[in-house]
Amino acid sequence: MEKLEDSYLHRGKRKQLVREVSEKGIKDPKVIAAISKVPRHYFFDDIFLQHAYEDKAFPIGEGQTISQPYTVAFQTELLRINPGDKILEIGTGSGYQACILLEVGAIVHTIEYNKKLYQKTATFLPKIGYRPHFYRGDGSRGLPEHGPYHGIIVTAGAPTVPNPLIAQLKVGGSLVIPVGNARKQKMLKLTKVSTNKIVKKEYNHFSFVPLLGENGWNE
Ligand code: SAM
Repeated sequence: MEKLEDSYLHRGKRKQLVREVSEKGIKDPKVIAAISKVPRHYFFDDIFLQHAYEDKAFPIGEGQTISQPYTVAFQTELLRINPGDKILEIGTGSGYQACILLEVGAIVHTIEYNKKLYQKTATFLPKIGYRPHFYRGDGSRGLPEHGPYHGIIVTAGAPTVPNPLIAQLKVGGSLVIPVGNARKQKMLKLTKVSTNKIVKKEYNHFSFVPLLGENGWNE
């Protein structure tokens, strides 16, 4: 399949993308290396290949998007992942973010609400060599049966911080989640510093598709 070739041209475009993302403030060498390594063009249909290395979100069908590379890098950097950390990703989507998490050394559990996207991504990712643990369901409730987690990343915009996600963090672990209205959300990092103390940091605004489900927006 021509599309699954990773040529020097693709690698050159990735280098350019990495430069762009670094200029926007991403510093963590592990995150930079992961963006340099994962072939983002594998996640695009042939007719849209020219958009694969733009620093932009892009539609992936089912009304959903593959997140902007800068956003993926920013959220990953905030998690401060150590090799072997167990990370829960809510919103598998295309699987690109899950690949980046695997590349930085995490053990990844990823949950997707949309059945078609779940099926498509759970079939596709192993074909290109990436094997997170896939689940289909409402990630706004977390995934308690596999917790607690060193980190939880939410890749859809939430109306509020879902309490079950805080409950499923290990002490020392962080939840990275965009919270706001349907159009604009503020990136939050909530760190569980002790069993009953959370430290919250706020970052810039982003624009994600809505988090659905019990602790998300009504469908
Ligand atoms: N991380 C993805 C990637 O790398 O392509 C981008 C995710 S896209 C911006 C948001 C995803 O969250 C969509 O695939 C959507 O179906 C999913 N989603 C929305 N609500 C959800 C929920 N309650 N549980 C799990 N996934 C959810």
